[in-house]
Amino acid sequence: MIKILFAVWELDPFIKVGGLGDVARSLPAALADLGVDIRVVLPYYKAIRLGRIKKNFAGEFKLDYGGTLEKVEIIEVANPITMIPVYLLRNDKYLGVAHHPDTFAFFDKAIIKIISENVLSWLPEIIHCNDLHTGLIPLLVRENKIGVKTILTIHNLSYQGKASVDVLDKLKMDQTKCHLENWEIENKKLNFLMEGIIHADIVTTVSPTYAKEIMTEEFGCGLEEVLRGKEGRVFGILNGIDNNWRSNSHTRYVKYPYMSLKYKTSENIQAKIYNWEEGKMKNKLYLQKKLGLKKGSSIPMLSFIGRIDPNQKGIDILHKMVRKANLSEYELVILGTGNQSWEERFQWLGQFYPDNVSCNFKFDEKLANQIYAASDFILIPSKFEPCGLIQMIAMFYGTLPIAHKTGGLIDSIKNNVNGFIFDNYSSEALENAVQKALFIWYQDKPRYKTMVESAIESDFSWRVSAKQYLSLYQELINNTL
Ligand code: ADP
Repeated sequence: MIKILFAVWELDPFIKVGGLGDVARSLPAALADLGVDIRVVLPYYKAIRLGRIKKNFAGEFKLDYGGTLEKVEIIEVANPITMIPVYLLRNDKYLGVAHHPDTFAFFDKAIIKIISENVLSWLPEIIHCNDLHTGLIPLLVRENKIGVKTILTIHNLSYQGKASVDVLDKLKMDQTKCHLENWEIENKKLNFLMEGIIHADIVTTVSPTYAKEIMTEEFGCGLEEVLRGKEGRVFGILNGIDNNWRSNSHTRYVKYPYMSLKYKTSENIQAKIYNWEEGKMKNKLYLQKKLGLKKGSSIPMLSFIGRIDPNQKGIDILHKMVRKANLSEYELVILGTGNQSWEERFQWLGQFYPDNVSCNFKFDEKLANQIYAASDFILIPSKFEPCGLIQMIAMFYGTLPIAHKTGGLIDSIKNNVNGFIFDNYSSEALENAVQKALFIWYQDKPRYKTMVESAIESDFSWRVSAKQYLSLYQELINNTL
């Protein structure tokens, strides 16, 4: 049985900041289903509330950091959703609150210590690192000559975790020995993610297309040369969605649920949709009333759900398109948070079309599920998208994505089959794709229905991704890469 330690800084349901928390919940569970002995390690933040979850003391040790010896306790629990073992590392000074860079440097060194001293009486063959927070682990493995392999998964290249090189002194590492780039030495800055890329045995990212895109100047966020130097050892594996989890959310939040899960075999779960047309119509009428939109089933509903992040999520082209749109043709629902000035701009626009536009600037899981269920189309104009979950969730609900041709959107949407893809990053290209979708909705209902059914049948279960990770693990262990 392959043994993997999955190191991550967030994990649903203990602590979740973004999509990585979902990945850390679902991917290990899917790997365990394939027979992998996988355990997760996470800082024991003060914000984590374990409630009635059973806690086991799994060991303790002293860690030298910043010139003092710190005590670290290991508490073992089971993730209450997946039952995967989780090791929570407790040190209130450094791990109580996530504070870059010390929390992550300390966490990474603690993991090395656990392995080098076999504190758990369990030794992994591979440490699977995730994002900048675990970026120093591969370097520390090399420095300390630990017999374990490392994989680094990049979930978003734009967050790199630059910090003063003094961190190396706190870790008791010789700056001259580390593979620092010239600009790092000049600026006295250490780049956590870059160190991870350079020293990991394998780098993966969350879709095959993003794996290629990050080799270019346009998407490489300054690390394209480092990544190109790693070519042949960079792989893209598409994230998945958790069908069980999704189906539970559907039942829990959607006013008129219209799907349940069907088990083709014990391991092959597929969503079963019963009468999605009626389901969508009822949910649309409900949502129109709830959001104060004009009621009626004969008008299509288009939605945007996501972070209001103008650098990534295509907020500028969406706004420009809506400004010029003929809003008697459709209703537009927006749900997101993250940027006050853009939120105000949308709100201002929405005031002119109170019957057709609904802006909701908050994080609201219930409303998100109700929007996925009621909408006919979901807009994803992202400038770049490492993987993206919105399109997968939307398709699970029978809602067709209209998305920019980038990253994981390319790998999960088949243009004109289960969604629509537009080439150029511009409001005109977005508008053209919207017009095409509206034409099909209004004029060619049989084609629209075929597309919805094709979207519903798309398989984004984690099992598909987990098999690819497993074969990488095997190749890495057998040195056949
Ligand atoms: P990213 O991780 O870049 O934010 P993803 O597409 O990978 O984008 O994942 C976004 C997830 O967050 C989806 O599950 C989406 O439904 C959810 N989400 C985003 N914004 C909101 C919001 N305002 N309210 C509820 N859920 C949201």
